[in-house]
Amino acid sequence: MVKSRFKAAVIGAPIAHSLSPRLFAFWCERAGIDGDYRAIETADDDTAFTETIKGLLAAGYRGVNITLPHKLRALQIANEITPRARAIGAANMLRLWRDRIIADNSDAEGFLKALQFHAPEFSGGAALVLGAGGAAPATIWALREAGCSYIYITNRTRARAETLARRFGSNVEPVGWEERGKLVPYADIIVNTTALGLKPQDDLPVSLEGARDETIIADIVYEPSLTPFLMQAKKQGLKYFNGLAMLVFQAMPGFHQWFGAEPGPAEEAMAFLQKKNLAKPKTKQIVLGLTGSIGMGKTTTAKLFGQYGIPVWDADSAVHRLYGKGGKAVSIIAARFPECVKEGVVDRDCLSARLAENASLLLWLEENIHPLVYEDQQAFMAAHEQAPAILLDIPLLFESKNKRQFDAIIVCTAPEDVRRKRVLARKGMSAQKLETILSRQLAEEERLARADFVVRTDKGIEDAGQQVAKIMGEMAVKYPQLAALDWPQRDK
Ligand code: NAP
Repeated sequence: MVKSRFKAAVIGAPIAHSLSPRLFAFWCERAGIDGDYRAIETADDDTAFTETIKGLLAAGYRGVNITLPHKLRALQIANEITPRARAIGAANMLRLWRDRIIADNSDAEGFLKALQFHAPEFSGGAALVLGAGGAAPATIWALREAGCSYIYITNRTRARAETLARRFGSNVEPVGWEERGKLVPYADIIVNTTALGLKPQDDLPVSLEGARDETIIADIVYEPSLTPFLMQAKKQGLKYFNGLAMLVFQAMPGFHQWFGAEPGPAEEAMAFLQKKNLAKPKTKQIVLGLTGSIGMGKTTTAKLFGQYGIPVWDADSAVHRLYGKGGKAVSIIAARFPECVKEGVVDRDCLSARLAENASLLLWLEENIHPLVYEDQQAFMAAHEQAPAILLDIPLLFESKNKRQFDAIIVCTAPEDVRRKRVLARKGMSAQKLETILSRQLAEEERLARADFVVRTDKGIEDAGQQVAKIMGEMAVKYPQLAALDWPQRDK
């Protein structure tokens, strides 16, 4: 087997439930490719999205699949937009090519091929589309391609259906949500693109009473595989299909484009995903953020969380790795500050002194070194993706552009005199240096105000351990998956 390295990802929020990483892993194995495809949770925020894409571009990723809630942002960030992505008004695929970002949409092709796969006899007619969210325009585009001459679109929020109808023009007509049942007897195909059906207690998106025998029923949701809407179709003996084939068909172009290989027949991938347990969503991993100013006891606190079996990543150690012998950042620093690299290792004191001379150099550092730190963080997350929880120890979590969504942020703190004593006892530290460091950081009150939990570290490790135990206890109530951690035995 010839081994090569290809990197791609899927970005969304939430993303833990995504089947795409397993689908790509299946195709890689089938094609004999050593590929890397990971799910990256990115907050619903423009800056967070842009930072993630830039980080992936810098880290040599070839492409990204985009899901909720970023499909519009994906279009906005692109240097180039394919005609179909422009017509649909959303992108679910970004090709990262040298320093360019090319936006495309394969959701539409995915639905079209799924329709052709499940109902090859379908030749068009009237369609009723339920929902006008992110997935609806791709569905409308596909229905037109499949020969639908008239498409009714209905949505709980009518204005969204109207906007969508305007985008597509004359043969797409918005219909009031309350009126949708009246159109059922006239539809040759009815497609549910709403989120209704994801939860067992959800209402039906529409009653299929009065549907004609030959009407095709589709739901683009694939988990659960048989939504109450499809169950209705089954009971009435109608032809129906869920979103699994769409998922597989929309993913194929990315695999082909980014990994340079054929994914093989869709049936094979669908059978793989349908295997017992595979189509079940993974329990969401809990991501904890730990932060605190210099000398506030972060490292010790991180170890206390580590006692629960929570894998810990810390940004400082990542920087040490990058600046150490053979580290990825050494040559970058050497090119800009040759005097700060000695025997293949970055001299951090020398670098700090250079950076202190000119504030704009901090920006240079951010652009050149932060993507490498981010890559280190991503590699850690991929290595621990099965862990019920992970902890990211990031000193400047609030100050940096880190917009990752944390399930909880823990701030370490101590009274000012305790902190000063700790920091000034460190080798090479002075009161002036401490002042300079603090001048770049958030005020302590503000940091504490943003915390979900606070650990006070001035009363010894045992006391801090009890605070961590209390935090873990509170979190275990909110996140039952934490029960799977390795809880330390405590004396009663
Ligand atoms: P979205 O942008 O959030 O849109 C959600 C839609 O559901 C909107 O039309 C919304 O109406 C409607 N809705 C939500 N709650 C409702 C309720 N209680 N009653 C009536 N309508 C309700 O989501 P999306 O991106 O379109 O995705 C929708 C579903 O399709 C998701 O489950 C997603 O996983 C699935 N999907 C599958 C594939 C695939 O490959 N199989 C691809 C894309 C998406 P309002 O406008 O009134 O809020």
